[in-house]
Amino acid sequence: MSKRAIGDVRPSQVITTFGPGAIVDLQTLSVIVAGIDGWPTDETDVIHELRLERALRVKRFFPARATEGSFFSKNGTVPTFLFPRYQVCPVCQTLSAFGEGDIEYDTKWREMICKAPGCKGRGKHRATTLPAPFIIACPAGHIDDFPWREYAHRGPTPCRKRLRLYSIAKTGSVADILIECVCGNGTRSASEAFGEKHADALGPCMRKRPWLGVGNQDSAACRHSDEVRAMQRGATNAWFPVVRSALVVKEGASPIGLAIIACNPKQIEKIDSVEKLKALIEMEMFPTLVQFPIEDIWHAIKKLRGEVETDDIDLRWPEWTAFRDPASASSDKGELFLQEGEVPKGFSKLIERVVLARKLLEVRALLGFTRVDTVGGGGDDTLRPDIAPIYKNRPDWLPAVEVRGEGIFIELREDAVAAWEARSALYP
Ligand SMILES: [Zn+2]
Ligand SMILES: [Zn+2]
Ligand SMILES: [Zn+2]
Repeated sequence: MSKRAIGDVRPSQVITTFGPGAIVDLQTLSVIVAGIDGWPTDETDVIHELRLERALRVKRFFPARATEGSFFSKNGTVPTFLFPRYQVCPVCQTLSAFGEGDIEYDTKWREMICKAPGCKGRGKHRATTLPAPFIIACPAGHIDDFPWREYAHRGPTPCRKRLRLYSIAKTGSVADILIECVCGNGTRSASEAFGEKHADALGPCMRKRPWLGVGNQDSAACRHSDEVRAMQRGATNAWFPVVRSALVVKEGASPIGLAIIACNPKQIEKIDSVEKLKALIEMEMFPTLVQFPIEDIWHAIKKLRGEVETDDIDLRWPEWTAFRDPASASSDKGELFLQEGEVPKGFSKLIERVVLARKLLEVRALLGFTRVDTVGGGGDDTLRPDIAPIYKNRPDWLPAVEVRGEGIFIELREDAVAAWEARSALYP
């Protein structure tokens, strides 16, 4: 991991576009954003959003640090690793990985230059090399250098001769791109890497996680092992963030949580078992809780005490509650300022309520990412198992951004929605 500043990315983009595991093109170099283990954090930047912290089981959030000053005096930027490690020389077409000897950083560490024997770009005007155009990835998030050498030789090879990558510019497709080994035993068009038999051409997933360190490999088996595919380096499906967000509302809870909070906290504190809870409820100590099943109350108490690890903390319920009671849930001095609007004339049969959100603060935290496909629908329950991690060892924080905005909340009438659902035309 180089400590040198080599490019600019806005802090908010680190969540939405260029988080850990994403590839960032920096003109003549390409890098992969490092996992958060090595990110610099500064307590003065800390973001707290209690509900989101509880839901994600972290203690706090940090934004990607903004960089200040001139290009050469940057501190605290987000660390990256060189990726892909292969570069191509536009003059002699040498294709070589950093460390193999044919390419090296220039004296300012801003680009890599070709030092392949016979390159016409040698001497004072040595050629600046460019990142290799393809990489390989699997749907579990593993990513690796394209297996150039094996691909050219159609299988594992001891050959370490120079590789070349060039275009014969016939059709403008990947079929024009040739990978060649100067040994004479390997020349292959890139088209097979993108064709029907690409799995044979590219081999199984090697479970590489270069964003967690050079050579890092997932210790678990990859269940997409035979689904490796070649991608353009800048492909839009090479990185999709998995984000969870919460609006900053007053500390809220589920109906059962609100009912517990409304009880005498000293009495709730004394409850140390479900049997005790049952006894106290039978003694009519907690009239507001009678309506809920005992087991649910006990679970909710433990949840409020932080004794239950849970993914099912409902982030939307307290927001829903706030929007339905704008006057008591918000103020013009808080982060949430809501005003009751008017249901437009003629819509009162369909619309229950219109609320103008004059001021909103949303915290968006990055949990992980996927490649090839997104996690789907976008709801909270759609997280699928192969979200790639953004850290080696789980820290007590996650990267997040605060987004301020405004909006309109429209509540449909429940009876109108129910009537619409019941219409037979919906189920032809
Ligand atoms: Zn060259
Ligand atoms: Zn060879
Ligand atoms: Zn994999």
